[in-house]
Amino acid sequence: MLELLRELVEIESPTYTPGVRAVADRMGSELATLGANVSMLDGDHLRAELGGSGEPLLVVGHTDTVWPVGTLESMPFRVDGDHAFGPGVYDMKSCLVVLVEAIRLAGAERRTLRVFLTADEEMGSPTARPLLEAAADGVAAALVVEPPGSSGKLKTSRKGLGRFRLTIHGRPAHAGTHRHKGVSAIDELAHQIHALNALNDPERGTTLNVGVVSGGTSENVVAAEAQARVDVRVATMADRDEIERALAKLEPVHPEAKLELGGGWTRPPLERSEGAGRLFEQARTYGRELGLELDEESSGGGSDGNLLGAVGVPVLDGLGAEGGGAHAPDEHVVLPSLPVRAQLLSRLLRNPGV
Ligand SMILES: [Zn+2]
Repeated sequence: MLELLRELVEIESPTYTPGVRAVADRMGSELATLGANVSMLDGDHLRAELGGSGEPLLVVGHTDTVWPVGTLESMPFRVDGDHAFGPGVYDMKSCLVVLVEAIRLAGAERRTLRVFLTADEEMGSPTARPLLEAAADGVAAALVVEPPGSSGKLKTSRKGLGRFRLTIHGRPAHAGTHRHKGVSAIDELAHQIHALNALNDPERGTTLNVGVVSGGTSENVVAAEAQARVDVRVATMADRDEIERALAKLEPVHPEAKLELGGGWTRPPLERSEGAGRLFEQARTYGRELGLELDEESSGGGSDGNLLGAVGVPVLDGLGAEGGGAHAPDEHVVLPSLPVRAQLLSRLLRNPGV
């Protein structure tokens, strides 16, 4: 497992680079050794079918990372005690190793399996989405090998995500001679940022963050245009509709300023389904047999699990290896968790309880 982990980490695979295909090819050969029928789909997504009994289960991972090519020079793969470090080691090269090992351990008693590895998950899976939805057709459940939450927690719900752009159109004017004839898009944006922040409702799980602002051309010009880029997260479809209505109702404070809303939702919320509850209970039972006290949590981040939940498939997410520092320089995985999580997943591949 450690050797495969090193190999996968040492293939740098930021989204939309050739490394993604190299990881998919490497995984394809591992899966073929286990008897899988492997196909590479447009966009370098991998789909594999493995014979077994009963309704198929979909096992989902991704081959891309957020780390640019060249990161290995400053962040090489290394093992220090129980931890392994390197770009993408936790999200999710180690999880891919767990996936392969779990299928191997499940052996002939496994359910019929379909494996889907997304090539552009870190970008919100724009090219994978229709292919992933097709792969979900007729499956009893989806098991997603994303990294778990703290203390190995499994994920039965995830927030929905949106990325919006609020553009303000004002009227330019000379700042010295005609300050009051202008309509400052920047002044208007300041008001709108307060209005956006007022939509935050942390108890409900709704968050808005104005993460990037831009606007204006020079100190001595009343700004004609300004823009805010906003990250929006919601827990339920109902909250999503409500935020959408609130955004559409934003009104300029200055009567001559104009607002233009762009962008949209990138992932629907994954609401905890009854099926997800059954998958979790089954996983908890297996966890106890393995000495793990597994809990469940809702994640503020999105994954392919959100897309699968939206087409009505019960989803259990966070089945990968334990570690920390995803998307951060201290990214690491806890090596002894790999065989244990592989055992856990292999039991679910035999009997997920749905
Ligand atoms: Zn991931």
